Amino acid sequence: MPDTADRQVLNSRKICDVCSEPGKPFSVLSNAWEEHLRSKVHRRHSKHTSISREEWIAQEKAKGLARKAEREALKAAEMAVKAAKEAEEARK
Ligand SMILES: [Zn+2]
Repeated sequence: MPDTADRQVLNSRKICDVCSEPGKPFSVLSNAWEEHLRSKVHRRHSKHTSISREEWIAQEKAKGLARKAEREALKAAEMAVKAAKEAEEARK
């Protein structure tokens, strides 16, 4: 009789979070897991994700907000200059 329980363990797969992409889970056979962690593919991906996806998104968001704040500050400064000029004109 075949030992199906054993075979299931051999054939079970682990999802590698590092190598997975959104909607594309990267699964590795459990018995090849250790090997996978040392593989080029995995190391390339882990270099890529030295920061987590969430951290990256947060960083991009912060950058976007900083740029927006900069633009708004510039606009406010321009408005202030314009208002000052207009006040000067009115005084004449
Ligand atoms: Zn991996």
